[in-house]
Amino acid sequence: MVPSVLKGAAHYPELWPVEVFHKDLELMKEIKLNVVRVAEFTWSLLEPEEGRYSFDWLHEYIDAYRKHGIRVVIGTPTAAPPPWLVKKHPEILPIDYNGVPARYGVRREYCPNNPLYREFTKKIVSKLAEEFKDYDNVIGFQIDNEVHWGEGSSWRYCYCPHCISKFREYLESKYGDIENLNKTMGTLVWSHKYSSYDEIVPPKPPFDLYNRSLTIEWLRFRSQSWVDYVNLQAEIIRSVAPGKLVTTNLMGLYPEIDYYRLSENLDFSSTDVYPKFGSDAYDPAYTGLVYDATRNMSRNRRFVVMELQAGATDGYSYVTPEGSGVFKISVTPEPGEIRKWAYQAIAHGAEGVLFWDWRTRPIGKEQFWYGILDHDGVPRRRFREVQKLFNELDRISDVIDKSRVEASAALLLSYETLWALDTIEKGYYNHTYTGELAKTYKALWLNRVNIDVIPPEATFDSYKIVAAPSLYLASQTLIEKLREYVHNGGTLLLTPRSFVKDEYNRVNINLDKVYELTGVKIKEYTRLPENAKALIKFEEDSPILAKEETYGEAWLETYEPETAKPIAYAAWRWMRAEPVITVNNYGKGTVVTIGSILPQHTLTKIIKQLLQHVNIRPVIQENTFDPNIEYYSKTLNTRKKVLFIINHEGTPKQLKIKLAIDAAQVTELLTGQTFKPVEVEHILNPHDVKILLIE
Ligand SMILES: [Zn+2]
Repeated sequence: MVPSVLKGAAHYPELWPVEVFHKDLELMKEIKLNVVRVAEFTWSLLEPEEGRYSFDWLHEYIDAYRKHGIRVVIGTPTAAPPPWLVKKHPEILPIDYNGVPARYGVRREYCPNNPLYREFTKKIVSKLAEEFKDYDNVIGFQIDNEVHWGEGSSWRYCYCPHCISKFREYLESKYGDIENLNKTMGTLVWSHKYSSYDEIVPPKPPFDLYNRSLTIEWLRFRSQSWVDYVNLQAEIIRSVAPGKLVTTNLMGLYPEIDYYRLSENLDFSSTDVYPKFGSDAYDPAYTGLVYDATRNMSRNRRFVVMELQAGATDGYSYVTPEGSGVFKISVTPEPGEIRKWAYQAIAHGAEGVLFWDWRTRPIGKEQFWYGILDHDGVPRRRFREVQKLFNELDRISDVIDKSRVEASAALLLSYETLWALDTIEKGYYNHTYTGELAKTYKALWLNRVNIDVIPPEATFDSYKIVAAPSLYLASQTLIEKLREYVHNGGTLLLTPRSFVKDEYNRVNINLDKVYELTGVKIKEYTRLPENAKALIKFEEDSPILAKEETYGEAWLETYEPETAKPIAYAAWRWMRAEPVITVNNYGKGTVVTIGSILPQHTLTKIIKQLLQHVNIRPVIQENTFDPNIEYYSKTLNTRKKVLFIINHEGTPKQLKIKLAIDAAQVTELLTGQTFKPVEVEHILNPHDVKILLIE
């Protein structure tokens, strides 16, 4: 993608006097920073009034970066329309579900379906690309910034006339004759048989009150609106500035946009990660999930972290259809945490990290969202920590560049299931899809294997195991794909509430193909009462957890086995002695079906045995399953491995590590220490990292 690891920060020189900019350049040189992202909120500077452009100031900055050997990612400025545009054309504002236009003065106050805003977008983006396409140090463009509707606001779903008419067009192009829509969606329920598309109005929160099929289409349409808007900008940049890279910064696993679709047409995916934002608890496995998903969102499995937390994050209010609140100012990262977060990203395949921000701003909004430098610009411990990191990355850049994450285990992430279960039927269950997804990921992660987090559209063949937790909504195409995968020798893990809905979000009543795959029919199910724990006992001869006991929460479904073998039974009230976990041999493969929400430790153990079954070896022997130690590996030149060991805790760790990888020699890359690959004791300081080159 680019010749070496990207080491950078977001930079907003326009917020500071020019002498601060020159001081910044010196400090950037000192720290060996090699890339900045600029300009993504500068429309009111780039075009102070309609049609009058002002690019000189940005030329001066980019030229100065060039002279200092710093590469640049230019952000297109569409995330914050300028005041003149909103004053002249207030119709670009999104309209909330109460019919009220967005208030101006925050950011993101536009609807991507507004034709006028799309025209203004085309103009500013093509001007910007034209103006800066010839700079060698401009490596590419970031489209917009964290695209989504609204900013802590109630207009997260726009109901402007353009959205409504485009939604109707989308439905008509998909369903054709209105009778087909009526029939497919079951609009007779509650007397909604439509005579024409003009009669259809988009569902409003709370969504569960509406027709399920219409609502899933509205959510698909909303997601696709952003995909189209990003593609609009990507096409302009590609035609005006060929050769420049195009990306947009995602927000982890933000639930409202299918990020796989959004990234389809980009040169690489990028994401923003603030591990301590909004919560005092930090789960490194969850951040791993974000990275393993982001890597698989791009066509070529390449990604960077476009914004990584560099200090405390500021407070932030939010309003959602479900309620409002405020995130507190975060706990300040402890010494070592910032560096550790960067290494975690690199371990999972990131080709660079840019911190947010370079220098903490004293003005405007986000005044306490800390950068590498404090408000006064005095280099302190975070600056020194990033300096240490960047120096180290220079030393090992060759290894990072040439190594790739390879995974034989996959986790299926279905945005459509997320929308059906967590958005439309939010609160119906004592568990969520995203919770099950994170838990299943963590069960794999704790087993010290690499994981690809893939969409339903991905090819499954290269994986020895695919875990598909609570796959609530599945099309016949997906069911067929899973059948073929297992039939050809794959191993599939399913958890409760799988295949409940078809692609129209109707209850799936044609489950013959599913029964064939799982070898069971569902006999009965129930939501378990709040805090209830249903005892589950494994069979004496179970190939998994024989004779052990565990419990299920939130949901219990029992099975009538046809070809499957039950390996665990429920022991809960009237559902006693009914099969709740089964194994089915289908074709050359295996399907494990789990009928309850299991605790983390049980799922982790089940996955441990399944990984053994499919011959995926963890990178270490004698795993202690410590959730604060991470092991993640990359493959270098097909034979060598690079193993990252990360201490995610603020206390030292003494680890006896016996590698499970054949090797003649091991080198710790940061210290240069070499040793034989027998059991070696490593002391990891708080938040410290070891990188072992295994050859
Ligand atoms: Zn709209």
